[in-house]
Amino acid sequence: MSRRGLLFILSGPSGVGKGTVRKALFEKEGNELKYSVSMTTRNMRDGEVDGVDYFFRSREEFERLIEEGKMLEHAEYVGNYYGTPLDYVNQTLDQGYDVFLEIEVQGAMKVKEKVPNGIFIFLTPPDLGELKARIIGRGTDEMSVIEERMEVAKQEIEMMSHYDYAVVNDKIELAVERIEHIIESEHLKVSNVLAHYKEMMKEW
Ligand code: 5GP
Repeated sequence: MSRRGLLFILSGPSGVGKGTVRKALFEKEGNELKYSVSMTTRNMRDGEVDGVDYFFRSREEFERLIEEGKMLEHAEYVGNYYGTPLDYVNQTLDQGYDVFLEIEVQGAMKVKEKVPNGIFIFLTPPDLGELKARIIGRGTDEMSVIEERMEVAKQEIEMMSHYDYAVVNDKIELAVERIEHIIESEHLKVSNVLAHYKEMMKEW
């Protein structure tokens, strides 16, 4: 039997660059992580593809999936639902792959309740002025949405204490490298290595 994969959760305040860092991590050669594509009720942005960037679904369908217990977590963020489909995560971990979630803070805290041995990585802004510039600079949102995202971001920064690692997003490549180091270190933890050896010894 192959060992179960590890669950990594990248989260952090709105506008910190979680999506950009996650994409850069997955574009790197040799990446063996499996990305869990989230579901959302928000409108598709230019260039986004259903099933790749998100599963874009109606509110009705999303609510039905919540009721059926099909979401590992979900959160309402700036008027839309976002959530992680449960089956993909479970099946992929069972196959021995590491699964990577990139989600906002409320959702990450719900994952923590359900999967306490997940590895929680908080992406931090190098400074708050830059965070504000990024939220405004995204350019796809109205002013009221930008203000709401700023307010949410302030509250989210206070959540850092609940995480295992803090990664500063000063430069994308550096943030990616730090995350790679975390992944490598987690695999070298005795608790994870020992579980693997115990499995192997059962087969002796
Ligand atoms: P955006 O609308 O900019 O794509 O994403 C908005 C926020 O939703 C980002 O902070 C992103 O990390 C978060 N997000 C994306 N997928 C999920 C998910 O499955 N669950 C939760 N809770 N947040 C998500």
